Amino acid sequence: MLYELAAIGFLGIVVYLVFNRATPRSGTFDALARRNQFCNVLETIPYTISGKEVIFEIMDESCESGMPHTTNPTTIRFPHSLWKQRDSDRFKQVLRHEMIHLLQRRSPTAWRVQYKRWGYTIQKDAPAGIPRNIVERVRYNPDIADAPWAIFEDRYVTVACYKSVTNPQLRETEIVIWDLELGKQIEKMPESWPWGQSSPSAQQREKVAPAVKKSGLHQAEHPHELSAEMGADLSNQSYVPEGFREFLKMQS
Ligand SMILES: [Zn+2]
Repeated sequence: MLYELAAIGFLGIVVYLVFNRATPRSGTFDALARRNQFCNVLETIPYTISGKEVIFEIMDESCESGMPHTTNPTTIRFPHSLWKQRDSDRFKQVLRHEMIHLLQRRSPTAWRVQYKRWGYTIQKDAPAGIPRNIVERVRYNPDIADAPWAIFEDRYVTVACYKSVTNPQLRETEIVIWDLELGKQIEKMPESWPWGQSSPSAQQREKVAPAVKKSGLHQAEHPHELSAEMGADLSNQSYVPEGFREFLKMQS
């Protein structure tokens, strides 16, 4: 009997490890936002890009609301519909974006050093003092899951939060900026924020500040996303920090 219990316990641990590996916790807004989604892999395609092994997983359309993402240092998941358009410029840009997320997963320390130069630190846990109603609303994003909390100048915390708590949707978020020094939510990033002297949340309100609009950045809440957006289309950015092109070349 004890052996049976031990076996069940062991099985439980295995099931826990398999199903909880960097995935949203059940009973959370993250889980609610992913209800009725199926992350079945329809096709697995190994590739070599710039001498590196990459695995493409072609997914059910519902997985992560059809948003491409990475799951480990070698695997990119694409929704089936985007894969069908793999000759398009849109696909190529998405591929470059996701390739940068793979590089971030492969050399986490190098990227953190780079972010320091931009004034950012990133970390696994929420900084002290952030209210629970913000912490709970933060959208789980597999591409930043190693350290989802981004802090600019040791003071300004930016996270993408679900707009609705009754009907959270992965594609409907707002960027919340929390000022650790003032201990409250603020509307705009400080003048020293390099990407447009405006609020990243302005994009969500569709009042896009000219500088942010010009930069072409869509996801400004985290340096993993800022760098992936910039790196995906270096020619189309009004602001790319000094040295980033060289850094990217070294990582690629
Ligand atoms: Zn991304």
